[in-house]
Amino acid sequence: MTTPSAHLAAGIDIGGTKLLGIVIDHAGHTVTVERRTTPYDNDGLVDALVELGEAIRPWDSLGIGAAGLVTHDGALRAAPNLGAVRELPLRARLEARLGHEVVVDNDATCHTVAEWRLGAARGAANAVLVTLGTGIGGGIITNGQLVKGTNGFAGEPGHMVVDPDGPQCVCGRRGCWERFASGAALARFAAEHPDHESLCAAAGKPAGARLRGEDVMVAARARNAAALDIVDTFARWTAIGLVNLTNLLDPEVVVIGGGLAGAADVITAPVQRWYTELLYSPDQRPHPRLVIAQLGEQSGALGAAMLGAGRGWAHPG
Ligand SMILES: [Zn+2]
Repeated sequence: MTTPSAHLAAGIDIGGTKLLGIVIDHAGHTVTVERRTTPYDNDGLVDALVELGEAIRPWDSLGIGAAGLVTHDGALRAAPNLGAVRELPLRARLEARLGHEVVVDNDATCHTVAEWRLGAARGAANAVLVTLGTGIGGGIITNGQLVKGTNGFAGEPGHMVVDPDGPQCVCGRRGCWERFASGAALARFAAEHPDHESLCAAAGKPAGARLRGEDVMVAARARNAAALDIVDTFARWTAIGLVNLTNLLDPEVVVIGGGLAGAADVITAPVQRWYTELLYSPDQRPHPRLVIAQLGEQSGALGAAMLGAGRGWAHPG
């Protein structure tokens, strides 16, 4: 017999490389953490989630966060970073196997709920979160409510087009914001930079190496001019998207999460400078707070657990 205060909420975050499963108690404290490798096909993914769900028992509710388009009834329509996974009725298949109700939502939506309830957007009635990682995800809180949209697809800022003639996106279109303000964008800027050689040296990589976003951050911390140049370009594009979101939603706080939140020491100041410079009507409004997510790598699983537990966590009041 479980009393509400003893409710154990499980959450699993389906990441591009790993599945992270946690169980939290009613106060939000983590009581169990388990990791598995992410399979890239429908059947393999369901099997791995069932195995992980069983491994982290006991729990009273289960929420799943998945990178991709998740419908209101918990089907994963498309998942660009999960290989062959598509058109997967995840909720229905997990409920049949686990014999328990399961909630499935978009991973960035889960991050948003976690940061809103326990992290950097705590107490905000209007907030926007963007996850800057390989791509860009997002979530929106408006008037104290999580915004889901008609199909459950709201909060996909990474695919706002910021340059119709820009580079091709994983979604098949051109010039999406995530081609300019993600880890993949940093890698592209690095590959195209005329002083690639000094960039490689400052990042501690051999000349001609294929650099990743984190390599650019290493070089920027070493004050390499090419890296600082790239960071400034990246910061400007990041701010362009954040300003567009601000114009649309008028948030009191804008949260930057995802892998690049780990480079807050490098990116925060230039993003803030560009954001302030590009903000619409800056003299007529209180400027939204631009902050870094606080909950780290567990925030997706944490938010999934909260969404799975339902009222009280994900839908206060
Ligand atoms: Zn796109």
